Amino acid sequence: MFRKKLRYILPRLGRFRYYGRIRIFGFDRQRKIKRTLYEKLKLVMNTESETVIPFIDIDVTTHCNLRCKRCAKCIPYYREKRHMPPEEIRENLDLLTKYVDRICVGSIIGGEPFLNPQLAEIIRICASYEKIEHLEVTTNGTIIPDDETLCAIRDSGASVHLSEYEHIDARHIETREKLREKLREYGIFYVSQFHPEWLDFGEIEKRAHSRRELDDMFIHCTMNSCSIYNNKTLYRCGRASYLAQHGIESGGDDVICFDEIKSKEEAKEKIRKFFAIRHLPACSYCERKPATIISGEQLPPVR
Ligand code: SF4
Ligand code: SF4
Repeated sequence: MFRKKLRYILPRLGRFRYYGRIRIFGFDRQRKIKRTLYEKLKLVMNTESETVIPFIDIDVTTHCNLRCKRCAKCIPYYREKRHMPPEEIRENLDLLTKYVDRICVGSIIGGEPFLNPQLAEIIRICASYEKIEHLEVTTNGTIIPDDETLCAIRDSGASVHLSEYEHIDARHIETREKLREKLREYGIFYVSQFHPEWLDFGEIEKRAHSRRELDDMFIHCTMNSCSIYNNKTLYRCGRASYLAQHGIESGGDDVICFDEIKSKEEAKEKIRKFFAIRHLPACSYCERKPATIISGEQLPPVR
């Protein structure tokens, strides 16, 4: 029984680290989601009367100005790239918040969100949902947004997360410093996330892992505590989202299509199963023992 509980809790520790980091920086709006460990456990397991999602990535574009090898969202491999328009984001969030009582953190992400020309409006839309308790924008830090976007971030109380990669061009390092200055100038709270190494899950191709191996891979995977929301659908990791969108592997309990849900009870049950899953069909497309690579290494440009 104890082993069973550990198997359930361990994959969620990544998210606890996330909360821990927020506490260190002690940002005012984020204090709303400070909880004791016990409260966090209850929250993640959805044992309270309400339906809670601890964290979602809100995808606003599949464009990116970088082509990172082993991008966790597989962005360089998307066949058709697009910016999501504000109306689509509103429609998606209307549907999600119809069935979910609280979303602790909504992370506006891409691709590179600062490439979406309608980002300011999107930020304002996301901030208008009271059920999203904290909003953040995750960027690779190589683009300086316009004043309208910076004002939207500041006015909505969102924070900015700068993903800092090891393998990056000198001109991008300069831009990143300028971006930090801009954020300070606008009084926007930001966090620099430095990841010198990434896990290399290998090429996207089906492998013959046993069920036990898949369970083991999933429980130890650093990506297992993500929830990606796009096209009115919730996925457990970026690779799973990419595969499903390209018709390679569609899910069961690891995917929630909010479009097909009929009641709050059904949504609650699906979310419970979603977080209780032991592995994803997409895990068959990953290396069992991923090697590490230097973060931000670039793939050759497309010709
Ligand atoms: S910056 Fe790199 S890791 Fe981030 S979305 Fe773009 S390609 Fe992927
Ligand atoms: S598909 Fe599974 S093993 Fe691969 S990155 Fe996602 S959670 Fe990890």
